[in-house]
Amino acid sequence: RTATLPGLEAESNIQVVVRCRGRSAREKSEGSANIVHIEGTMSNEVVIQTAAAKTELGVTTPAATKTYPFDRVFGHAADQAMVYSEVVKPMLEEVLLGYNCTLFAYGQTGTGKTYTMQGDLTPSISGGPSAGAGMIPRVLSNLFAHLEANVPDYSVKVTYVELYNEELRDLLSPSLSAPLGSEQPMSKGTGSSAGQYSSQAQAAGNNRDPGPKIFEDARGGVFIQGLEESYVRNAHEAIEQLRKGSHRRQIAATKFNDHSSRSHSVFTVTVHTKMKETGASGSAGGVAGEDYIRTGKLNLVDLAGSENIGRSGAENMRAREAGNINMSLLALGRVINALVAKHAHIPYRESKLTRLLQDSLGGKTKTCIIATISPAQSNLEETFSTLDYALKAK
Ligand code: ADP
Ligand code: MG
Repeated sequence: RTATLPGLEAESNIQVVVRCRGRSAREKSEGSANIVHIEGTMSNEVVIQTAAAKTELGVTTPAATKTYPFDRVFGHAADQAMVYSEVVKPMLEEVLLGYNCTLFAYGQTGTGKTYTMQGDLTPSISGGPSAGAGMIPRVLSNLFAHLEANVPDYSVKVTYVELYNEELRDLLSPSLSAPLGSEQPMSKGTGSSAGQYSSQAQAAGNNRDPGPKIFEDARGGVFIQGLEESYVRNAHEAIEQLRKGSHRRQIAATKFNDHSSRSHSVFTVTVHTKMKETGASGSAGGVAGEDYIRTGKLNLVDLAGSENIGRSGAENMRAREAGNINMSLLALGRVINALVAKHAHIPYRESKLTRLLQDSLGGKTKTCIIATISPAQSNLEETFSTLDYALKAK
């Protein structure tokens, strides 16, 4: 039985925050100026300040200041704990109330998406997340701390998939553990699935198993056939699954140098809690004393590098034909824009990523995008493009 839930209104609820890391050793040694200004550790706007410069053609571009407002902006001094408590903790609370939520890390390669989502997975001396632990290990540790202290009957399962070239790969499945592109016999076109995989992937010479298939059930829930679901009893087991899957992802990344910048990873935590019907408002509206199951889901998404969206987006035909534009990343932008503009039709079906997330984007859900940027002058163009994309999601 579906519960009538308090809290969120039946409209899209998208929060956009920005996180700017400090200058890297390389950016410092190249003498690339810091052009991103954020007041204090945490603020509500990003100010980009560029100095006057002479271009190659001898034209002088004047000094410029551009201000971008966001829900939250984190400077280089903001640590993982601060990003967690400001952004992710409220989402976990919604998940425990039975909502589906999604957290995205969006940004240019090298700006801190994986650092923010995953970070350091080694536990601290006390056994909890270390200072460098990212949002996923923090969610898992806080989730279990809450359940163990407050909920007598619950279950938690995790799944972990990767999307590369519009193909899904199960990062938790032992049977699909061979690295991408290895010589595997392919199950030759079993039934209707044969034609649906992109010519792009075939052009890349990947004659491999196309991986799990996505379906929707009668109530609009997303279901992935053959996906390994791992029931985890505590935070330690859950983080082990994350570590295992990330290791598989890393193997592919080492083998193909564009892999990590062009792939999306989706770590999903589903929480079932057994509740007692109280008959009060905000409960499931059934008979008092009856048990019901409340289910909430949190998707934690480390997106492909935003440079893969292409500078002029969908119009850049040549880049598109060459397969240099990430279809899922573009489609996600269109879905988010349609949700923000409250369009009647939301184009979920245009990519694997948006199909995978369609029961967690729009409607009674909460979405947050953490846009990660570099402070260096040398990344100015990508920073502008990230901030523009992020601003459109507001
Ligand atoms: P991406 O996943 O966006 O390509 P990474 O997360 O791999 O980027 O980050 C690139 C490098 O910058 C890594 O060495 C990472 O540890 C470091 N880094 C990123 N963000 C931060 C931050 N906020 N504080 C400290 N180091 C960071
Ligand atoms: Mg990364």
